[in-house]
Amino acid sequence: MTSSTEATASHVHVAVIGSGFAGIAMAIRLLGDGERDFVVFERASDVGGTWRDNTYPGCACDVPSNLYSFSFAPYPDWSRRYAPQTEILAYLRDVARRFGVLPHVRFSHEVRTATWDDAEGIWRLETSGGPWTATFVVSGQGPLSTPKWPDLPGLHDFGGELMHSARWNHAYDLAGKRVAVIGTGASAIQFVPAIQPRVAHLTVFQRSAPWIVPRGDRAFTSNERRAFRSLPITQRLSRAAIFLKHERDGLGFWEPRLEPYVRSIAARHLKAQVRDASLRAKLTPNYRIGCKRILVSDDYYPALQQPNVSLVTEPIERVTKGGVVTANGTLHEVDAMLCGTGFEVATMPFARLFRGKDGRTLAQTWASGPEAYLGTTVANFPNLFLLLGPNVLLGHNSVLYMMEAQVAYVAACLQHARREHLQAFDVRPEAQRTYNDALQARFERSAWSARHCASWYLDEHGRNVTLWPDFALSFRRRLRAFDPAAYQWRLRVRPYAPREARRSSKT
Ligand code: NAP
Repeated sequence: MTSSTEATASHVHVAVIGSGFAGIAMAIRLLGDGERDFVVFERASDVGGTWRDNTYPGCACDVPSNLYSFSFAPYPDWSRRYAPQTEILAYLRDVARRFGVLPHVRFSHEVRTATWDDAEGIWRLETSGGPWTATFVVSGQGPLSTPKWPDLPGLHDFGGELMHSARWNHAYDLAGKRVAVIGTGASAIQFVPAIQPRVAHLTVFQRSAPWIVPRGDRAFTSNERRAFRSLPITQRLSRAAIFLKHERDGLGFWEPRLEPYVRSIAARHLKAQVRDASLRAKLTPNYRIGCKRILVSDDYYPALQQPNVSLVTEPIERVTKGGVVTANGTLHEVDAMLCGTGFEVATMPFARLFRGKDGRTLAQTWASGPEAYLGTTVANFPNLFLLLGPNVLLGHNSVLYMMEAQVAYVAACLQHARREHLQAFDVRPEAQRTYNDALQARFERSAWSARHCASWYLDEHGRNVTLWPDFALSFRRRLRAFDPAAYQWRLRVRPYAPREARRSSKT
């Protein structure tokens, strides 16, 4: 590290990266614990993370909002059971403002590299807004932040409008256009019904059929909203009931004997909504239910059956200037191509940023697959916490529950370090190993094993590196008590003092 960088860097006790749900939750917890010496780096000019970036028509949560919200910030005014993206984003902005997070956010500060300085026991961060140092770093960069484009030959030669669901171009008017949709995942099944009435023709290219269960969305009545506001216990009970139902549903993922029951719910939904047997056959998945994310929709199948929609299951061979060519040689001419092809999840792109104790990046360390201790800390990467890191996402319940458990764990670790005058921690490799061996063994019987299908839950070696294979409750139980014995610690000899006068973030 050059002395000029050191001279100009501002130092903070904690640097949080990202201001989506995870970064905001962490900041609120730090404030609640009396910590003021922290910043939240945000590359964009607004908070919200994936809920800021995903603005495609029909974008909404597929977990009911009474559960998909912070436990400490209930919101009685959700308009519907499943809130639309605009409301979730407004909620996040409001929570960030109300809890005093905004003064700590450095907008337009993209963290480009973060390098552990072992001699000083600090992280050195290069951001688009200049260099910083931090004693602790919390990554809240989220699994759904880097859009994944389909690997189709000729994709970027396409002469019409090409967009990804996570980067929707609202300036482009789809009215009266011939439109191709690539992908039939959680995003596509939301925007297909939303745009179908407007377009001239919609061709949906399906590589694998998704399993879909009924959504049962509806607007909350004014009486319900009044009850949530004046008797908060009613909303808490609703939240608890939804959570426990999702926990129960989880059994279907790791208990093969329950699979026929779960499958029958989705099969009945398909049969009720699609009368045409040949279309039904195309829409019937050929893999164990739950292996890919189970989707929740009441309007996708009806949209597919409208006269201006065709479903193509023939594999795509290539994209040309004028459209999409399938393996049987047919050219589907279109004006626009919409890719609902998901995100780089298993590769965890944020791992390229961090360089640890041994000089290797986290991406290099994870060359044979990402893993962490409790999904939160990684051996050789001292004083770094990952929120929604490896094996923390859920296939059956709200991921915010997991994230809040992690935030509490991080807070407990920071308190321990402060109390015991510790400068740095590093998780013991053997603790990380034992934890991951036990975790991976649980996938064997589950729907998420690579035996059943290829999904974005798996890394290139077929290992599930994204999901927690158990009840959400058991994750929280596991993280409830902070376990200092799992870590190597370094005593603080003297507080880190940068050469320049400190430009602290104190408010
Ligand atoms: P996704 O679930 O990863 O789905 C991607 C789709 O694109 C799949 O159907 C995939 O087919 C297809 N695909 C990918 N590459 C292709 C190619 N080269 N040719 C043809 N098809 C291709 O992505 P997503 O729908 O954006 O959802 C990602 C995740 O975001 C979800 O699982 C969920 O966690 C989250 N999400 C949540 C909500 C919510 O309401 N909370 C809403 C949207 C998204 P294969 O199945 O064959 O790979």
